[in-house]
Amino acid sequence: MTGRTTRADRLAHPTTRDAIRAVAENHGACLHPIQLRRINADTGQTDQVLIPCGATLASKCPPCAERAKVLRTAQCSEGWHLDTEPIADPPPPDEVQAMWVEHRAQAQAMRDQAEAAGQGTAELDELIGDLDQEISRSGLRGKADPARSRPRRHRSTRRRQDAPDLPRRKVSPRTVGRTYTARDGKTFRPSMFLTLTCPSYGRVDENGTPVDPASYDYARAARDALHFAALFDRFTQNLRRVLGYDVQYFATIEPQKRLAPHVHIAMRGTLSRTELRQIIAATYHQVWWPSTDVVRFDGDYLPVWYDARGGYLDPATGELLPTWDDALDAIGPDDQPRHVARFGAKFDAQGVLAGTKDSSRCIGYLTKYLTKQLGDCHHPDSDAQREHVERLADALRYEPCSPMCANWLRYGVQPKNPRPGLVPGACKGKAHRYDHLGYAGRRVLVSRKWSGKTLADHRGDRQAWLTEMLGLPAADPARYRWEQVQPEDEDYLPPGRRLLRSVGDRLQWENALAEARRRAQDALSSELSSTGRAA
Ligand SMILES: [Zn+2]
Ligand SMILES: [Zn+2]
Repeated sequence: MTGRTTRADRLAHPTTRDAIRAVAENHGACLHPIQLRRINADTGQTDQVLIPCGATLASKCPPCAERAKVLRTAQCSEGWHLDTEPIADPPPPDEVQAMWVEHRAQAQAMRDQAEAAGQGTAELDELIGDLDQEISRSGLRGKADPARSRPRRHRSTRRRQDAPDLPRRKVSPRTVGRTYTARDGKTFRPSMFLTLTCPSYGRVDENGTPVDPASYDYARAARDALHFAALFDRFTQNLRRVLGYDVQYFATIEPQKRLAPHVHIAMRGTLSRTELRQIIAATYHQVWWPSTDVVRFDGDYLPVWYDARGGYLDPATGELLPTWDDALDAIGPDDQPRHVARFGAKFDAQGVLAGTKDSSRCIGYLTKYLTKQLGDCHHPDSDAQREHVERLADALRYEPCSPMCANWLRYGVQPKNPRPGLVPGACKGKAHRYDHLGYAGRRVLVSRKWSGKTLADHRGDRQAWLTEMLGLPAADPARYRWEQVQPEDEDYLPPGRRLLRSVGDRLQWENALAEARRRAQDALSSELSSTGRAA
C-alpha cells in the first residue's frame, strides 16, 4: 500500500451515509424521521421520540411507503369478503337529543312566522344558532338545516346529468353480497375483481405507443384522465342502482402502458358479465364547463389583473372578462356538455372466493403500484415512449384541470376565485404535472362501509397487536403533550443523527419482537408436550 488512491478508487467505495440508508431500508427504519418531544403532564418529564415520516411514495421514503402499502393491503383484504355488516345501524336519538331537536323545530317555526309577518328575526336566529350547537354537543352528526348560513347563489349552475338507460332498483342499505348454496349444502359468498379501462384513442403497439401518433386522440385522452374519478363515481352509483344494494368497493387507480388510467376494483358481492357490460355502456360523466373551442389569449397577449375590481381585463378593450359564474350561466339549454367521459368497452371481471390464492393475488395486484406516482409506474425506455409522454403532457398543458385553473384565461373566462399572477399554461394544479398524467385524484378509493374502519383504525389495530405482543403497558394519550423539535432548539437532532437513531430504535424493536415471538413459541410447545404426555 502506497497510501495513494485515485479519485476513481475512492468513489468506488460506498459512503457511510449510503450504507446507513441501505441498512435503514433493510430493517424498515424511516429515512426521514420527525423528532418530537413528549412531555408527561403529571411529572413534567420530557422524552425524545422519533416518529416515522409516514410517506406513501417510495421516492420519498421506501420503508414508510412499504408500511403504508401493507396497511392498505390489510384494509383491502379485511373488507372484501365480509359476511356481516361492518357498521351497525345507529340507535334512535336519546331523550336529550330528541329534546334539542324539538326545541330547534319550534324555534324555526317561530322564526319563519316572524319573517312572514315582517318582524325582526335577529333574536330567533341567535337562538337557532345556540340550539344548533347544543344539537352537535349532544352527539348527533350533521346539521339540522344544512342550507342555513350557506350563501345562496341566484341561479343553479349545476347542469343536468342525463339519466342512464339502466334498469333501476331501490337501493337497500345492505352492503354484503348474496350467498350461494352448493349441492353439498356448503354456502359461499363470492366477491368480484373488476378492471375498467378508458376507451381507445387510437391503436397502440405492445409498448403502449400509438401506431399513428398524428391521429391518436390526445385531447380526449387528457380530458378522460382529468375526469376519471368523477366517471368512476357515476359507475358506482349505477352499480348500486342496478344491483339494488349498497355495494362496497376498494379501488386503486393506475396507468396502463398507453398512460391512460384504469381502475382495479375489489367489490363485495357479484354481478354477471352481461350486467357489467350494460352498466359500463350506460355510464358516462358530462362536464358542463364553458367552451374552450376558441383561443382568445395567447403568447404575450394575455388578460391583465385589475386589482380594484378583483379580476382580469381584456388588455385591448379594458373590459372585465366574464366571471366563472357568468360563463356557466351563459351555457344554454341547447348547448352540449364540453366533455363526456366514458369507459372503454374492454373490461375484466372475475369472481373471487374468500381465503383463496386468487384473493391474495388480486389484492397484490390492487396495491402493486401504490408506492409510486402514476408517472413512475412505467418507465419510458424508447424514443417512441418518451415522445408519447411528451405529447400527452402537451395536451394537458392548456386543458383546464378544474374551475380554478389558470388556463381558463386562455379561453377568455376568469377562473373561479381569481387571484393575481395566473398564467395560462403554467397552472400549478397536480393534473398538469408530469408525474400525474392528468389524474390528480386519490389513488385509493374506498367506500365508506368497506371494512367499517378508517386507515387510522387499521393502524391502531396493528399498534394494539404490537403492544400486546411486546407486553408493553398501553400509553395513556391524555397524559402526554407533544411538541415538534425545531432546528433552533437545543435538543434538536441533525438529520444524520436522527437517521442513526431511527435505525437503532428499529433494531431494538426487532429484537424485542423476535424475543416475544420466541417466548410465545416456547410457551406453546411446552403446552403441547405436556398435553402429549397426558394423553
Ligand atoms: Zn419515512
Ligand atoms: Zn390547471
